[in-house]
Amino acid sequence: MTVKAKKHLGQHFLNDESIAEKIADTLSLNGYKKILEIGPGMGVLTKYLLKKDITTYVIEIDSESVDYLKDSYLNLAPRIIEQDFLKYDLKEVFKGEPFAIIGNFPYNISTQIVFKTLEMRDQIPEFSGMFQKEVAQRICSKEGSKVYGILSVLAQAFYDADYLFTVPPSVFNPPPKVESGVLKLTRKKDYVLPCDDVLLFKVVKTAFQQRRKTLRNSLKTFNLSDSLREDVIFGKRPEQLSVQEFISLTQLIENDI
Ligand code: SAH
Repeated sequence: MTVKAKKHLGQHFLNDESIAEKIADTLSLNGYKKILEIGPGMGVLTKYLLKKDITTYVIEIDSESVDYLKDSYLNLAPRIIEQDFLKYDLKEVFKGEPFAIIGNFPYNISTQIVFKTLEMRDQIPEFSGMFQKEVAQRICSKEGSKVYGILSVLAQAFYDADYLFTVPPSVFNPPPKVESGVLKLTRKKDYVLPCDDVLLFKVVKTAFQQRRKTLRNSLKTFNLSDSLREDVIFGKRPEQLSVQEFISLTQLIENDI
């Protein structure tokens, strides 16, 4: 059965079996018994996940894809969640259990997928899959890089981020306009931060909203004391700060009463 791809749902179906298998193999399967695939579409990746010794759930918003999956993978049927990943409360299915996330993700909601994963990091030890190449590179980039930004710092505060490989447009139907990149996030052993994480998110977002300014200027809205603003770190621009330095900066701001 062929299904016409729906652009507004970011549907670009992978038609290269070896790449699907390679993506399925990126998870270690250690430390959890369940995985959740976001946006299975016609199941090209799902097929390889189902061969593994792990329980696979899928979440898919498109009813046509869901009908196809139900007919094609009878054993999977009870674990197909026909919902919007961004809106659905995953605790309904996973309760407090750990699970990994995988997918050839819908690129139009890439950033939100990463943020939702970060919010649920207590339950998500591993995350891997395909994004638009620039987004995958950004998430994995280090300080000093032009593409280093909010997603890089916040993802790497909790996860080790590895860019794995690039995938050309030609292996998708229909081909996207951009190259794709597969990455893997592995939660750090010490992912509980020594600073207020809500404040960290605020500091990182505020600093990068004006990425050319020094922190002294961009973080004015935090009403910091003059003595703190003298600290050398405030003379830097956000792209110069490592993840560790952002954490230290947040601690400084936290203690600035
Ligand atoms: N994994 C498949 C399909 C990738 S295209 C493959 O590799 O061929 C992205 C898929 O995500 C589509 O099936 C689309 O319907 C689905 N999708 C888009 N937005 C979604 C959302 N908010 N929640 C769940 N699935 C979504």
